[in-house]
Amino acid sequence: MARRRKYVFVTGGVMSGVGKGVATASIGALLKARGLRVTAVKIDPYLNVDPGTLNPVEHGEVFVTKDGLETDQDIGNYERFLDEDLGRENYMTSGSVYLTVIQRERSLGYGGKTVEAVPHIPLEVISRIKRSANDADADVTMIEIGGTVGEYQNVLFLEACRMMKLDAPNDVLVVLVSYLPIPGSLGEMKSKPTQYACRSLNAVGLQPDLIICRSTHPIDETRKRKLSVNCNVAPEDVIAAPDVPTIYQVPLRFREEHVTDRIAMKLHLAKKGPPRLAQWVDLNRRIAHSSTPVAIGIIGKYFSTGDFTLTDSYLSVIEAIKHAAWFIHRKPDIVWLNSEDFEKRPGQMAGQLKELDGILIPGGFGTRGIKGKLMAIRYAREHKVPYLGLCYGMQLATVEIARHVLGWKDANTTEINPKTKHPVIHLMNEQEEKMKDRDYGGTMRLGDYPCVLKKGTLARRLYGRDTIRERHRHRYEANPAYRCDLEEAGLIVSGSSPDGKLAEIVELKKHPFFIASQFHPELISRPLRPHPLFLGFLKAAAKR
Ligand code: GLN
Repeated sequence: MARRRKYVFVTGGVMSGVGKGVATASIGALLKARGLRVTAVKIDPYLNVDPGTLNPVEHGEVFVTKDGLETDQDIGNYERFLDEDLGRENYMTSGSVYLTVIQRERSLGYGGKTVEAVPHIPLEVISRIKRSANDADADVTMIEIGGTVGEYQNVLFLEACRMMKLDAPNDVLVVLVSYLPIPGSLGEMKSKPTQYACRSLNAVGLQPDLIICRSTHPIDETRKRKLSVNCNVAPEDVIAAPDVPTIYQVPLRFREEHVTDRIAMKLHLAKKGPPRLAQWVDLNRRIAHSSTPVAIGIIGKYFSTGDFTLTDSYLSVIEAIKHAAWFIHRKPDIVWLNSEDFEKRPGQMAGQLKELDGILIPGGFGTRGIKGKLMAIRYAREHKVPYLGLCYGMQLATVEIARHVLGWKDANTTEINPKTKHPVIHLMNEQEEKMKDRDYGGTMRLGDYPCVLKKGTLARRLYGRDTIRERHRHRYEANPAYRCDLEEAGLIVSGSSPDGKLAEIVELKKHPFFIASQFHPELISRPLRPHPLFLGFLKAAAKR
C-alpha cells in the first residue's frame, strides 16, 4: 500500500508573535527525531508576492532560501530546527497564490469557467502544499498559517485546511497555538481569549486537535480542564508552553508534554520509537554551561517601531552569533547599537565601542545610518577589534578603507552617491536594466552561488576548504577597477566567484580578525553546526 502523507496545520490564536513558528519548527524537529521525514511550509496572508520589497521594520528579516526565494524568518527557524534546506515550494503568500490563479485564468487554464476565491484559491494552496510534501518525500508536512484565527486575511488558508481534512480526516491534524494572558491587576491566568480563538476556528469548520498554551507560566490543572471542556479537546491535548530562556529548549519541553506522542497516535504514524534527542540535550547543556560573556556589538538601524525596539530584522544574525558562542562555551552578550545615534553623538561612540569584544555590521540598504556604520568600521580597523561584515558590512568596509587608507575622501557605493569619482562599490551589470524598469520584486542576486577561496587567507583557514556555497541578496558589488588599489591598501579578496569576477570575501592583512562577505553566512548557520565565519569571529572576540 502506498505510504500516506500526513499534514499538521498550525494556526495561531489571540495574538501574533507568540511563537507559532518556533512551535511548528519544534514539532517538526521532534517528528524528525522519531525517524520520520519532515518538511515545513509557511503561508503568509499578505498580498506582497514575497517579503523582498518590504521594509525590515515592517516585516522583520527576509530569509533567502538556497534556490533564491525571499521568504519569512519562520523558514529560517524551520531550517535551523529541522537541519534541512528548504526552497521555493516551502513558502507562499496570498499575493503569490492569487498571482498564479490569475495568470492561469489569463491563459485559459480554467477552460472558461468562473474563477472564484472559493474554491480556486484553496485548491491552489492545497496543490502547493502537496507538491512540497512530494518534493521532500515527506512523511509529515508541517504547515504554518500566518496571522491569527478570526482575522479576515487567512480565512482561505483555513478553508484549504478544512478541504484537505474533509478529503482525508486521518491524515490532517490541526494545532492551535494560543496565548493565555496573566493580567498584572488579577495575577491569574485567563483562558477566555483562547476559548474565543477556538470558537473562531469552529466557525470556519475546524476543530483543534491540540492546543498549545503559550504564557509566561505553565497552565495549571484547573485551566486545563476548563479549556478541555469548552474547546472540546482531551485534557492531554492541552499543552503547557511557558516562556523558556532559549527557543532551543522548546523541543525538549514539548517532549515532556508528549506532544508528538499525541500527534503520532492521532495521525496513526508508523511506530518508530521515541524521539532521539541526544543532540538537542547536548545543545541545551552547552547553553546552560556557557557563562563567561562575550560582547558582540551589532551596528544597525532597523530597530524601532514607535517606542519599542525590535531585533527581528536581524534574527538569523543573532542566532548565528549564539550558535558560535555556545560552541566555544561562551555566553553571547549582544549589544544593539543604533548607527544613527553615533552620528548624533560621536563623542559617545568610542566609549560604547570600547566595551565590545567584536563588532558586526549586518546587511542593509540606503543612506540612513551610513556615517555611523563607517565610524564603527574605522574604529574596529584602527583599534584592532575583531570585525565581521555581512553584505552591506563588506561594501561599507571597502568604502571606509578607500576613504581613510587610500585617502579618497569621496569614495562611496553608488547606492549612496551615484556621482562619486571613486565608485568602489557599484551596481552589478545585470541590475542596471532592472532598476531602469523599476523591476524590484525578486530581482536581486539571490540564493546560493559557489565561491572559490584563496590559499593562505583567513577565509581559507576558517572554512578549511577551497570551494564553498553561500546565499546572497544584493544588487551592488565590489567594483573590480579598484581591486589592485585596495589590495595595496591591505584589503585582499580572499573569496571570489569561480570566474574570478565577483569579490565575495575581503579581509585585512594586518589585523587580528577583519573579514567581510558579500553573502549572508548567517542564513546557513545551524544550532548544531555553527558557521565557520561566525565561529572564527567569536573565537577572536573571546580572546580579547
Ligand atoms: N544594499 C546593498 C546591495 O544591495 C547590500 C544589501 C544587503 O546588505 N543585503 O548590494
